[in-house]
Amino acid sequence: MTADPLLTVVEHPLVQHKLTLMREAGLSSSEFRRLLREISHLLAYEVTRDLPLTTTEVTTPLATFEAPVLAGKKLALISILRAGNGLLDGILDLIPSARVGFVGLYRDEATLQPVQYYFKVPNDLAARRVIVVDPMLATGNSAAAAIDLLKADGATEVAFLCLLAAPEGIERLHEAHPDVHIVTAAVDTHLNEVGYIVPGLGDAGDRMFGTA
Ligand code: URA
Repeated sequence: MTADPLLTVVEHPLVQHKLTLMREAGLSSSEFRRLLREISHLLAYEVTRDLPLTTTEVTTPLATFEAPVLAGKKLALISILRAGNGLLDGILDLIPSARVGFVGLYRDEATLQPVQYYFKVPNDLAARRVIVVDPMLATGNSAAAAIDLLKADGATEVAFLCLLAAPEGIERLHEAHPDVHIVTAAVDTHLNEVGYIVPGLGDAGDRMFGTA
């Protein structure tokens, strides 16, 4: 729990243990991806805990009754490329019928500002719960820019799911989108001079895909 009502830090021991394993610099890409997928299941559980339910009639071998099912339109999961895909895959394991979108943003290393190169999202965003995924909430610039684009496309109910956050990124995202709930496994101490989270785990995309 945190004092910030728009921030959930998932302190579950399995999440914390797996995150610690992921931070280790010598871990292979395949292990890194496997752990990220496992953690994303646990984070998905948290970010979806208040999804609305309705009921449907179901007939068991013993009786017919009204049983709970998810209500409303299917969720939209939006991955910020490319590292977002590591979280996306695990969430899709749990919510296979979710609609999926992609926002391509790269970070200009000189200004640390996001530059858009791809945008493809499900229709009817206005009627869907939108969960934006990116493992690292660092400066918050990419997250804020991606959510700007999604809101311009109609999204009204947006959550942001990440693995690690820097205090600077949380502040920036709260400032830009005070309605967006952030769910993360940990909040690290600070950003370094080139915008990396410290102690962090390095470049999540490079670690996932072995491109360092
Ligand atoms: N993106 C990453 O992958 N790692 C960081 O530490 C910051 C941004």
